[in-house]
Amino acid sequence: MTDNGTVQKVAVIGGGVMGSGIAQLAATVGHEVRLVDVSPERLETALAAIGTSLDRFIRSGRLETDQREEILGRITPATRIPEAVEGVDVVVEAVLERLEVKHQVMTEVAAHAPAEAILGTNTSQLSITAIGSVLGEGASRVVGMHFFNPAVLMRLVELVKGLETSEDTLRRAEDFARSLGKETVVCLKDSPGFLTSRISAILRMEALHMLEEGLASPEDIDKAVRLAFNHPMGPLELGDFNGLDTYLDALTGLHAAHGERFRPPVVLRNMVAAGRLGRKSGRGFYDHG
Ligand code: NAD
Repeated sequence: MTDNGTVQKVAVIGGGVMGSGIAQLAATVGHEVRLVDVSPERLETALAAIGTSLDRFIRSGRLETDQREEILGRITPATRIPEAVEGVDVVVEAVLERLEVKHQVMTEVAAHAPAEAILGTNTSQLSITAIGSVLGEGASRVVGMHFFNPAVLMRLVELVKGLETSEDTLRRAEDFARSLGKETVVCLKDSPGFLTSRISAILRMEALHMLEEGLASPEDIDKAVRLAFNHPMGPLELGDFNGLDTYLDALTGLHAAHGERFRPPVVLRNMVAAGRLGRKSGRGFYDHG
């Protein structure tokens, strides 16, 4: 629902980690959702993951048992974009983080969605302006809607204004995010890393430099951040959790955009070169064997 309580028709493109969470959120507050993925297997996995997550909400008393089927009933899976975006108010794109894939998806969405629909992108790193550039004048409808993982729990949606994003698009994106029960912040300029990725990268960089300088063990650096600043995880354990290759890619992008202060520390490059990628490879700053 919007601020004035209207149910919206929402298409979420990409049924991976983020898309499935965003679809669940939207269906939980009463929106009608079409969840699109090129892969029928990914759609199946997404619906199963949503069911498991809803069960957890029921067990913890945050949802009633009979709401499970109602919520799932509001999500229609689809493998094709044209039919799925018919008559929608909002599209949120959460496909792979590759500009050519985002371009292909935005072009198809814009050709079939109503002209008034806003087109959100959940990109973490790519330029909103570049993503919208394939749409010509339609770029005014494209806006960054950066959700955080897990989307059903994290409280923030970071909205990002591309060069061509209209005020009306931004206002409607804000309204939609609030309808999902989220707080918003607005990054007024399309700048790599927006607000949140830059801030978290600086914390991560300092943790890596401290490790290089031999100031403390990974355990103590993480513990310091957890207990002094009330973060649920320290930057090194979070790196292991998300994948150190993903950390390195993100820092490499920020370094190219903003210069020296984001130069990826040697300790991180070495870890990735050695194949110590964190949880997914069994070993990172910590042993996950
Ligand atoms: P993911 O790999 O889990 O999911 C991507 C999905 O997109 C896959 O299921 C894939 O089959 C599907 N897909 C690929 N091409 C498609 C197409 N042409 N049409 C429809 N579906 C297509 O990725 P994710 O982690 O959910 O990330 C999605 C986006 O969200 C990326 O832009 C990423 O940068 C961003 N993001 C991720 C996180 C995170 O923590 N994972 C957080 C914030 C933002």
